[in-house]
Amino acid sequence: MGNENVPTPADIFGQYVFTDAVAKTRLSKATYKSLKATTELGEPLDLAIADEIAAVVKEWAVSLGATHFAHWFMPLIDSTAAKLDAFIAPTQDGKVILSFSGKELMRGEPDASSFPSGGLRETAAARGYTAWDPSSPVFVKDSTLFIPTAFFSYTGEILDRKAPLLRSCQALDKQARRVLAALGNPAKKVTATVGPEQEYFIVSREYFNQRLDLRLAGRTLFGAPSPKGQELDDQYFGILRTKIIAFMKELDTELWKLGITAKTKHNEVAPGQHEIALIFDTANVAVDHNALVMELLKRIAERHGLAALVHEKPFEGVNGSGKHINWSLTTDDGENLLDPTKDPYKNPQFIVFLAAVIKAVDEYADLLRLSVASAGNDHRLGANEAPPAILSVFVGKELKGLIDAIENGKSFACSVAPTPNLGVDILPVITEDRTDRNRTSPFAFTGNRFEFRMCGSAANIADPTFTLNTAVAEALSDIANELEKSTDPKKAVLALASKIFKAHSRVVFNGNNYSDEWVAEAKKRGLPNMSNTVVALKALKADKNRKVFEKHHVLNAVELDSRYESFLSNYSKTINVEALTLVDMTSRQLLPAIYRFITELSATVASLKAAGTSSQPIADKLAKIVSLAEAIQAKADTLKADTKAAAALESLDCATAYCDKVLPDMKSLRVDIDAAEPIVPATIWPVPVYSDLLFRL
Ligand code: ADP
Ligand code: MG
Repeated sequence: MGNENVPTPADIFGQYVFTDAVAKTRLSKATYKSLKATTELGEPLDLAIADEIAAVVKEWAVSLGATHFAHWFMPLIDSTAAKLDAFIAPTQDGKVILSFSGKELMRGEPDASSFPSGGLRETAAARGYTAWDPSSPVFVKDSTLFIPTAFFSYTGEILDRKAPLLRSCQALDKQARRVLAALGNPAKKVTATVGPEQEYFIVSREYFNQRLDLRLAGRTLFGAPSPKGQELDDQYFGILRTKIIAFMKELDTELWKLGITAKTKHNEVAPGQHEIALIFDTANVAVDHNALVMELLKRIAERHGLAALVHEKPFEGVNGSGKHINWSLTTDDGENLLDPTKDPYKNPQFIVFLAAVIKAVDEYADLLRLSVASAGNDHRLGANEAPPAILSVFVGKELKGLIDAIENGKSFACSVAPTPNLGVDILPVITEDRTDRNRTSPFAFTGNRFEFRMCGSAANIADPTFTLNTAVAEALSDIANELEKSTDPKKAVLALASKIFKAHSRVVFNGNNYSDEWVAEAKKRGLPNMSNTVVALKALKADKNRKVFEKHHVLNAVELDSRYESFLSNYSKTINVEALTLVDMTSRQLLPAIYRFITELSATVASLKAAGTSSQPIADKLAKIVSLAEAIQAKADTLKADTKAAAALESLDCATAYCDKVLPDMKSLRVDIDAAEPIVPATIWPVPVYSDLLFRL
């Protein structure tokens, strides 16, 4: 305990998690050992121990106030899902006992028909199963024991994001260990580690409730620029507002209780925008924790009279929100395989893993692009605030030197980290970084890991993670094939890496990714640039991509097709909701307000005329708002008709219509609404404007 009995983060951390320590004290020795072999070394779960684990877990959960249990899963929608069952079982004397069997722990049977499957299941054959994922710990939240699970159909096809993630981790482990074994490293397990940084906006709950677009679509569909935006650069790392401090404090506390390592928090670039970063964990746990962070952000904000927005582009004209996925590989010994160490040139293991990542990003750039594609993220990628839709790898000056040297068969000597001269003797100078940062790169080496920065803030990070895992597994498999043939693999590394760098260094780019020159240069280099989700989805039809997922048993052909259809449909539905919301707000709120103003202004013009003093500027203003009202009405009608036509189409045709017709209609309508907003009096405009939303809590 800390001072005055105020619990410290260490006191409360993991209170509601069935941690390894809890398992060790509560389970029998044999069961604990067997469970550990599954969670740490990936050995199959011994079904015989399930009943004991269930009984122990139930007792533990009930002691924390749990009355229910729930299989928690990640279907192909933006949020997570769970069905809650009470622990009760009736007894003969009309009472109940608390019961929870091994079977209930291991398997659930949610109705699958209400989740996207891309036509994989007939509604009539809607049986779906969830299977316990023992590699992510169970936890208690809202009086319920939550059990992380994978979700699949009666016929065994997966319907979620978790199963491909687990499969990709397994594939990566296998291929990485082949490479390590060839180089004489006896690692028993290689794990992908992920550290997500999450951006979000906070607005006042009251204003949020007054905007149907924020409530239904998660973003503002119109809104003229606020007189002040982010131009003064006074937000990033700025002083937190009082309400935000209280909100963040509760958020941290609740996350810590759930064993979530909330570490860093700060103001982001845009007004009202913030970031929370966790300490990295295994990929699987990090995915679960990021999903919980998004859920808790929203719920705790509500308790403070606030609303958290995780949408990628809630406001036009200020930065949108993304998510950085820090990614690396660690052995069971705790060795980070992307640590360049003191002299990377003399470290064949590092060279080979660096080469694998570069090869993977170049060969599967289209899949990585797809893995972060969504209707929301389409507003960001390629705008001057997020990396472009073109994949490239930033390696920094030092590693670029190493790569060039190896490519050309030369040797390489490391530089020493620069020591800046601050001119003040008492300021401590600590330098460990041999390379500066590049904030514009979509995929950057940051010292001992890569940071994939294209992901949208609302997305589940499983998709980019399993795509990266799979692409790197494939590159490692090619490398292992070569090394296993060699009589001296360590020596063979330089020649092999040289070949890989020659073929793939086109994807390496240390410059400014936001510049137009880069877009032209990337085109010359033959790097794909897929500007929106519908275009990006083609990657799921490409032969090489289907092969790599099938080869590593991450997604089979049926599952790939199912995802293709689900993603198209999800995209179409998202834009359909936005379009209908905009039409609704326009006809029921905005136009009536504009008409009211026209009536008032007409009366003013008429009375001026009657008084014999007609004023041209006032008459002009009336003419202007009347013409805007006409345009808004006409464009809303077009939007309505085009939305209806798009909704009648199917699959790719449908998504294409939403992308090419409905979205431009919405944009065009918004131009006139945004022109009307500053003319109409604040007392008449029916919804909160950007300066309210961004600057008033
Ligand atoms: P920045 O905002 O400068 O990128 P942060 O400190 O906010 O840096 O975030 C860095 C993230 O990288 C943290 O989540 C951290 O835990 C994570 N990270 C550090 N080392 C690794 C690693 N080996 N594997 C994965 N993630 C890592
Ligand atoms: Mg970062």
